[in-house]
Amino acid sequence: ENQKITAGDSSQTWPNMDHYWMPFTANKQFKTNPRLLVSAQGMYYTDNNGNKVLDATAGLWCCNAGHGRQEISEAVSKQINQMDFAPSFQMGHPLAFELAHKLSQISPDGLDHVFFTNSGSESVETALKMALCYHRANGQATRTRFIGRELGYHGVGFGGISVGGISNNRRTFSQQLLQGVDHLPHTLDIANNAFSHGLPPHGLEKAEMLEQLITLHGAENIAAVIVEPMSGSAGVILPPDGYLKRLREITQKHGILLIFDEVITGFGRLGAAFASERWQVTPDMITTAKAINNGAIPMGAVFVSNTIHDTCMDGPEQLIEFFHGYTYSGHPVAAASALATLSIYENEKLFERAKGLESYFEQAVHSLKGLPNVIDIRNTGLVAGIQFSPSDKGVGKRGYDIFDHCFRNGALVRATADIIALSPPLIVEKSQIDDMVNQLADAINAVG
Ligand code: PLP
Repeated sequence: ENQKITAGDSSQTWPNMDHYWMPFTANKQFKTNPRLLVSAQGMYYTDNNGNKVLDATAGLWCCNAGHGRQEISEAVSKQINQMDFAPSFQMGHPLAFELAHKLSQISPDGLDHVFFTNSGSESVETALKMALCYHRANGQATRTRFIGRELGYHGVGFGGISVGGISNNRRTFSQQLLQGVDHLPHTLDIANNAFSHGLPPHGLEKAEMLEQLITLHGAENIAAVIVEPMSGSAGVILPPDGYLKRLREITQKHGILLIFDEVITGFGRLGAAFASERWQVTPDMITTAKAINNGAIPMGAVFVSNTIHDTCMDGPEQLIEFFHGYTYSGHPVAAASALATLSIYENEKLFERAKGLESYFEQAVHSLKGLPNVIDIRNTGLVAGIQFSPSDKGVGKRGYDIFDHCFRNGALVRATADIIALSPPLIVEKSQIDDMVNQLADAINAVG
């Protein structure tokens, strides 16, 4: 039975809200004053009251080509009519192969193999398991430990929260986390790096902690290091200049795999196909999802080095090399949407577009310096984080209030505790960058 909603036009009805347990949401708070989206086109959502909402977050870091892309909906519709589903185990269909081939053309050199998943979380679980599979196939089965990083977000599987470093995602499950995981220190250093433009100058030495962990455990026991090249979910935390290169040097020296979690940074967010390309550091695996198909259908992919792939393929022909996979791996409809999305990225040169807009975006977001309680602004590519001092009403209250104020006034931004992240679709116009920054400024001033 439909219910009246309290927000906006009182004549509206909305499906009963009791039964949907919403993810990563304060359900009770949300349901008393919901934020509801009903359609999307280009740079804008439309809410249930018919108001346009400027999308300053590409949905949830997904919709890099903007909303309502006809090419994608047509490809989806065509494929679902032709073949809705095909089994993914011991069977194949053309689009999954075509997509893997296309992806290998934009992936870093040497990462030419692709394993399909349905989300970022699944990509992470896949990469961790693949690391173990590789070391076994390579005769180094003692390499089982993982090293993640404080404040890292790698989705919500048990592997992902174990290598992840966000305490709220871990504390409820602390007895069940993976054994044998250590964390590097995070690289957020407001005291030394506040208001840096682009990569922060201080903090390269934090990579050296990896050497200490290797000394502690022995390299022969460590399978992989996993980091986000840029932490998105923890509030846009950038790698200090030279930091990723140093991680690569150390892992390479010790035969440890390096996994970049590019679920957010993949597909143009930083003005290149991958952060790996942008910062010229090639890991052994890259996990992706989200913008791989503009968020149209759940899909993820793990890019795998030729060495890992070839080593795992080295067994008897009839052997299943990797006992892992998902019913929906390489789903034909998701694959169709991804192929259409990659064509848009290429035809409209959206990754280059993001690079071209970077300095304008940087100037715009840094203009917020000096507004009430702004203690740091960080940016790279088309992503920025604006950090506030917590209010005396508790951590996260100020960030939430600014986010809610923006939404009620027509801009969707993302709040993580007292950090607001901006990550607009790569089709954004300069005037829309001005709009989102102005709306954010209004909210910051209003919330105080
Ligand atoms: N890894 C990173 C770096 C992410 O940012 C996210 C989601 O934001 C994930 C993994 C999890 O992705 P999903 O929510 O699709 O499982």
